[in-house]
Amino acid sequence: MTLIEHWIDGRAHASASGRTGRVFDPAKGVVQHEVVLADPAEIEAAVAAASRAYPAWRDTSIAKRSQILFAFRELLNARKGELAEILTSEHGKVLSDAAGEIARGLEVVEFALSFPHLLKGEYSENVSTGVDVYSLRQPLGVVGIISPFNFPAMVPMWFFPIALAAGNTVVLKPSEKDPSAANWMASLLTEAGLPDGVFNVLHGDKLAVDGLLEHPDVKSISFVGSTPIAKYIYETAARNGKRVQALGGAKNHMLVLPDADLDLAADAAINAGFGSAGERCMAISVLVIVDGPLPAGSRASRSDGAAEPVGTVGDALIAKITERMATLKVGDGRRSCDMGPLITGEHRDKVASYLDLAVEDGADLVVDGRGVQPDGEADGFWLGPTLVDKVPTTSRVYTDEIFGPVLLIVRVATYADGVELINSSEFGNGTAIFTNDGGAARRFQNEVEVGMIGINVPIPVPVSYYSFGGWKNSLFGDTKAYGPDAFHFFTRQKAVTSRWLDPSHGGINLGFPQNS
Ligand code: NAD
Repeated sequence: MTLIEHWIDGRAHASASGRTGRVFDPAKGVVQHEVVLADPAEIEAAVAAASRAYPAWRDTSIAKRSQILFAFRELLNARKGELAEILTSEHGKVLSDAAGEIARGLEVVEFALSFPHLLKGEYSENVSTGVDVYSLRQPLGVVGIISPFNFPAMVPMWFFPIALAAGNTVVLKPSEKDPSAANWMASLLTEAGLPDGVFNVLHGDKLAVDGLLEHPDVKSISFVGSTPIAKYIYETAARNGKRVQALGGAKNHMLVLPDADLDLAADAAINAGFGSAGERCMAISVLVIVDGPLPAGSRASRSDGAAEPVGTVGDALIAKITERMATLKVGDGRRSCDMGPLITGEHRDKVASYLDLAVEDGADLVVDGRGVQPDGEADGFWLGPTLVDKVPTTSRVYTDEIFGPVLLIVRVATYADGVELINSSEFGNGTAIFTNDGGAARRFQNEVEVGMIGINVPIPVPVSYYSFGGWKNSLFGDTKAYGPDAFHFFTRQKAVTSRWLDPSHGGINLGFPQNS
């Protein structure tokens, strides 16, 4: 068993805290590593290294910073297979999904490389006679990033490429459940030529997080995780005078109108509901079906050519989904399966407990994933794809974020009922509408109170040159991740008013400056 140590000042940093956390291989159900958990001296060491490195990094030329980030991009692209294996072995997601996570992280690295353009200031000549005004964007200093278990590579990459490009130094506190990806990326940054201390990894739990939230030399916090912790981070960081963006949990609804292509909708529900075992903040967890008789000439015919399903739109869509669920292969992500295990046994049991609750609350368990036969070790943290119909919206099964392979179905009578349901959720991360009616889709994008919308697209994660973030309890703060918002977040603006002396403009005047 290996010990995963901090990465401080360009090298592994041994811990003397005496505290460690366990890192599982979720497909085997065994502990494969231990990770150190920081004590106050180690928090101080990480922040001090970043503080020492800051002045030189801030003053490193745009050309040099570009070269280093380009080199990182090239190394990451060449060696992404190694990182995918780390992700699969500690998180459990299948290798193809791990590759997708890295690809979306690489996109942000590539976007960050446009920083010379995005850091340009503004210039206004002769705002008053002989006076010019211009603005500069400057880095903040040491920035803290705190990331969740479900995207151990991509979520840190939502932030650090942009923070570094803008001239900040970084302390990353990754999830203690799958910490190796952070060290791997740190060592790759060093190989790319990043000076020591510019990027540091501090492993730990609440103690490390609180240390960053309270440290006067940490100027901003970028957090991604569950809603209760996001709210705590937002409040605590703000109280300590820091700039903060805290992205929280989700319960994403996919609204299916009766005119939708039901085969497309069924594929989308499967992919977005069960990909990464439902452990994605953009997973679809509730399918809202505007139910009623199948429209005449609807495209509800079965793909296998069997008889047209009878019943309502909801019945037809559920038939198509269950048909597809039966084909999903659950197992070890290294064995070309569709879906891997959950992150820990404890989390698997918590997710499974919602299935009992669903039945108690009167829902209909259409497919129960507890009986799954995985292609993997018996002790892995397995739970198969699960489908629950007729879920009462008062049940905790509906209101809580479950974060597992559990797709809920709520049937509503009209489009308006569907939108009202979505808008009454405490979360507002992502949502999708499936329809062939452009007017309905346009109305939906206007009316729905959610930060990221898909139209016939189930996981509408914006490309890297737009910004990522939800509304309501899915994002605390006013700045989203990556895209143009990120350059705002990781820089401070200065406005300079300058006049090169002209003796004719001299003279004493105590009045407030006026432009002439
Ligand atoms: P989590 O909130 O448990 O942990 C996130 C981070 O906070 C970790 O680094 C953890 O060490 C730290 N942390 C945990 N408890 C803490 C405490 N009491 N005080 C201070 N720090 C604490 O989240 P998770 O289980 O790792 O990740 C899953 C959650 O993240 C889900 O809710 C998911 O929706 C959310 N998520 C959101 C987005 C988004 O963009 N909105 C993206 C990915 C994940």
